[in-house]
Amino acid sequence: MRLEPRAEAWQWQTVAHCRGLESAVFFGSEGEDRQRRRAREARAKALCAQCPVIRQCREHALNVGERFGIWGGMSPRERSKLTPRTALQPMTTP
Ligand code: SF4
Repeated sequence: MRLEPRAEAWQWQTVAHCRGLESAVFFGSEGEDRQRRRAREARAKALCAQCPVIRQCREHALNVGERFGIWGGMSPRERSKLTPRTALQPMTTP
């Protein structure tokens, strides 16, 4: 069986607020201390909160087990505590 790419599965990314932004806002760097991480994550989450595809993004991150970065307004630690079902009912921004 040959798997075909499904463009619709990624269509949501075309309207993402982070499209074209520096990835350093969403992903920490080596040696980042707690204060800088918190500030960076707050900036990323503020962007996510206004993003029209936050739900799809969060669902993707939970489904594939994204281990790094802010996705769908959630940090890796926050995602690790949730399953896709609990994360999406109700939809809230942490
Ligand atoms: S929710 Fe955040 S990380 Fe996800 S697409 Fe939107 S801006 Fe990007």
